Amino acid sequence: MKGYDVIIVGGGASGMMTGICAARKGLKVLIIDKQKKLGHKIYATGNGKCNFTNMDIGAQFYLYNGAASDNHYKKDYYIDFVNNFLSVFSNMDTINFFEELGVLRYVRDGYVYPSGEQASSVVLALTRELERLNVDVNINEKVCNIKRIKDKDYLFEILSEYEDDSGKQKKNYKAKNVVIASGGFAGTEFGCSGDGYIYAKELGHTIIKPYPSLTYMPIIEDKKALKNLKGVRFRGIIKSDELEEKGEMIFNEIGISGIPVFQLSGRVNRYGLDTIYIDFLPQYEFDFLISHFEKQKSRMSENMINELFVGILNDRLANYLINKLGFTNKKLKDLNEKDLKFTVSKIKKFKFGVDTNNTFAKAQVTTGGVPVDEVDMNTLESKITKGLYFAGEVLDIDGICGGYNLQWAWSSGYMVGKSIKNKYL
Ligand SMILES: Cc1cc2nc3c(=O)[nH]c(=O)nc-3n(C[C@H](O)[C@H](O)[C@H](O)COP(=O)(O)OP(=O)(O)OC[C@H]3O[C@@H](n4cnc5c(N)ncnc54)[C@H](O)[C@@H]3O)c2cc1C
Repeated sequence: MKGYDVIIVGGGASGMMTGICAARKGLKVLIIDKQKKLGHKIYATGNGKCNFTNMDIGAQFYLYNGAASDNHYKKDYYIDFVNNFLSVFSNMDTINFFEELGVLRYVRDGYVYPSGEQASSVVLALTRELERLNVDVNINEKVCNIKRIKDKDYLFEILSEYEDDSGKQKKNYKAKNVVIASGGFAGTEFGCSGDGYIYAKELGHTIIKPYPSLTYMPIIEDKKALKNLKGVRFRGIIKSDELEEKGEMIFNEIGISGIPVFQLSGRVNRYGLDTIYIDFLPQYEFDFLISHFEKQKSRMSENMINELFVGILNDRLANYLINKLGFTNKKLKDLNEKDLKFTVSKIKKFKFGVDTNNTFAKAQVTTGGVPVDEVDMNTLESKITKGLYFAGEVLDIDGICGGYNLQWAWSSGYMVGKSIKNKYL
């Protein structure tokens, strides 16, 4: 049975980074990934351009998912954890790391991409470095089991399976250290099936229930009426509980999408916040809209109510709202002062019920996973199982859009790679 200093389960962003950092110290490393190529998900990041970090960085971008309502950690602990990894391997360290591998940066609105704007260049740079460092890589191979063993040199036995012309084959290895870098559930099409949570549990960890984050929100009501809104964009504010995001949003066939929705989705799902409120016209104050509508009403009182919104809201959205307010087929002259106030108050705080049991299929990241207080803050070694480390999304860290999740993958991979020692010899 072949033995390694480190076996890394998962050759995604964090696994490759871990492999590079461990091999640079002279450790004998094996990366196992069940996909047909390393960094499978990276190709899809940033719409194929790979937004690999951000010029503006800090704990606020990993905001502890509505700390007030979480009962797992103390908010300060999580913030310290985030600030710690950013101080060990920051956004500038990431930029310098990739520059050293030949990938120069291109920055747009603070989002950092490879200069050639091809995610494939990031994967290639990492792969070439792994090759240069003689890291063993087994793709198309799935880790099936990680066992603690009593051996004078090794702490773990890893069982895996792969397929060749004669069918399913099994393999096993020994390792002094194991790194679970197998991602979460997000991006199921890239092979993310939550295997890491199973191994973490088997090795003594608890798992904070994983939920999809950075995803659209399915709206519960009016499924038929919503279909007519598909493709309608607006610039608004979305709120849930004490959380708020603003920017451009878009309706899809079953719900609402766009960056502000993405940013809130993880917390909405994780905390079961099944009601959202939308301000469709945040740029106008309540009183301004009332006086504007009153003027329009007196100017064209014989016209239908939807005329009020011409030039203000998308007509399909206006019709949907009018219908929801119960004013369909009404003329402007039929609206009294109370009706106008009611209309404006609803436009500025429109309530939707959302399904918080959304699937992971379209999610970019997982919130939940291995609790960060079960690992050492500086090394990411398990506090429960010696020689076991975690990197990337499998841990309960998730950021907002803008390169923060890959930054966590690089930072955590670096922390693990630099901490692992050949210590059990
Ligand atoms: C469409 C999309 C776009 C995104 N865009 C961005 C972006 O622009 N910027 C950003 O910062 N973040 C982005 N993200 C998020 C980012 O890609 C992830 O946070 C990051 O890739 C997580 O890295 P990871 O190494 O933890 O896991 P992953 O990249 O998911 O890698 C885990 C690997 O483990 C392997 N694996 C799992 N189980 C096993 C097993 N049992 N045996 C062997 N191998 C196994 C998988 O095949 C996979 O390759 C995006 C995500 C998606 C889905």
